[in-house]
Amino acid sequence: MEVSKVVAALNTKGIRSICPFCGTNDWNVSEHLCAAVRIDEKGNTLLGTGPLIPMIQLVCKHCGYVAHFNPILLGLMQSN
Ligand SMILES: [Zn+2]
Repeated sequence: MEVSKVVAALNTKGIRSICPFCGTNDWNVSEHLCAAVRIDEKGNTLLGTGPLIPMIQLVCKHCGYVAHFNPILLGLMQSN
């Protein structure tokens, strides 16, 4: 996913870019989407149990805090 489009979408939504933990404003925006893997109550991985929530990953370059945004809600991806 094009980083400039992600940044533009976040700005359009009025997302504040100050890190909530360290107060800096310096992020690494990944061009690759990611998703959390589902697990059961015993910690076993559940594969093939339905669609995963796509996420855009931002990492604070100062403290390492990781933030995720749903690209569908940012208008960057179609839901299926
Ligand atoms: Zn931070």
